Amino acid sequence: MKTRPGICNRKKRFASREAAERVAQAAPFTLRAYRCELCRQFHLTSRTKGMQIPRHELGRPELPGPELRRS
Ligand SMILES: [Zn+2]
Repeated sequence: MKTRPGICNRKKRFASREAAERVAQAAPFTLRAYRCELCRQFHLTSRTKGMQIPRHELGRPELPGPELRRS
């Protein structure tokens, strides 16, 4: 996944995928952790197109959700 520098700077960073996924699971909408090629840390995205979806989530309706915007 290509990440633009502006996105990277705006987004919350996590040192590990585990930390990112903990937050993702607590969110009321679908979030996915991915590793950023720019900062080598992890971000969360609500965009799941083109990303691998775990089998247990298939068939679940996509919930529209805003990006996490916390400063
Ligand atoms: Zn980044």
